[in-house]
Amino acid sequence: MALKSIWVYAEATNGNVTPLSLELLAKARTLGGAVEVVYAGADADSLASELGAHGAAKIHSTGDLAASLPGVPVASAIAKAVADGHGPDLIMFGTTYDGRDIAARLSVALDQPVITNNTDIELDGDVVVVTEPIFGGMKLVKTKFTAAGPHIALFRPKSFVAEEAGGAPAEVVALEVTDPGAAKVTNRHVEEATGPKLDEAAIVVSGGRGLGEKDNYELIETLAKLLKAAPGASRAIVDAGWVPYSYQVGQTGKVVKPTVYIAAGISGATQHLVGMKGAKNIIAINKDPEAPIFSVADLGIVGDVHKVLPKLIEALQAR
Ligand SMILES: Cc1cc2nc3c(=O)[nH]c(=O)nc-3n(C[C@H](O)[C@H](O)[C@H](O)COP(=O)(O)OP(=O)(O)OC[C@H]3O[C@@H](n4cnc5c(N)ncnc54)[C@H](O)[C@@H]3O)c2cc1C
Repeated sequence: MALKSIWVYAEATNGNVTPLSLELLAKARTLGGAVEVVYAGADADSLASELGAHGAAKIHSTGDLAASLPGVPVASAIAKAVADGHGPDLIMFGTTYDGRDIAARLSVALDQPVITNNTDIELDGDVVVVTEPIFGGMKLVKTKFTAAGPHIALFRPKSFVAEEAGGAPAEVVALEVTDPGAAKVTNRHVEEATGPKLDEAAIVVSGGRGLGEKDNYELIETLAKLLKAAPGASRAIVDAGWVPYSYQVGQTGKVVKPTVYIAAGISGATQHLVGMKGAKNIIAINKDPEAPIFSVADLGIVGDVHKVLPKLIEALQAR
């Protein structure tokens, strides 16, 4: 068997394992070998059931790192485990701020390549092969790890489907941190948010420049509220300052895969499409019948958002 041991770097927010971590665990399980987790936080014990249910046999826990950034300490801890001979053959990270930071530092510490931006991974005999979309998803590039491991790979959110495997709670074991790092976290701000999160919502309603002006984004928010959806946006209106960056869907924003994605006044540039074309059902509202968004839409409404959105809102309010 090519891979004896796979470690997934798991993250949690507010005591819940992030969907991306669970997606990586689901994929790791299909590769054969023992699947274990690296976790940086004081609450590894309380995550043991959930991580175990998703296939992790062990949690390698650094313990509480809240006062520092995880990049240096976690990379130092994994590198030490590898040096001591009980590290993994493959380490999978999600494309998050911390995942990227740790993977880069680990790559230097282990003198191993890191392959980023992947959406798939497979074994070709004994060789680990990862897949990365390029040109906005028009082409797929497969890359083989040719050096001896441990292999380090980063994966985009929503590349895999999270699924419980029904395992027992994971065993929590200590992972020794040899370098705590110099950075000190002095304060944390929690972003205010109401309603479902953009990258987890079952329904997303996004608005683009076709809304005309900032105040009209209210139509998107009202419709989203009525549908219990998350509001999203194209980069054009984020750059224009109508909504915060956290609303952006696309190549340089969030990747979403909801059951329903409604794009209102969005042209459908490739960079937007890569963030939402995995949605199960896409509904586009655009006054231009030639708009590229219609090429991915399951349902297209050729019309003015200022007429269509109020009608939709009215119909939903009347229910
Ligand atoms: C490196 C790079 C990264 C990028 N990353 C992203 C990204 O992550 N996400 C992203 O979204 N973009 C991204 N972009 C920008 C992208 O190329 C487009 O410029 C952007 O998506 C356009 O936003 P839009 O569709 O809202 O605006 P526009 O392209 O201006 O389209 C507006 C649309 O609204 C329609 N419209 C106008 N008036 C109405 C009306 N009254 N009723 C109905 N329809 C109307 C028009 O027909 C048009 O199709 C990136 C670009 C680059 C170069």
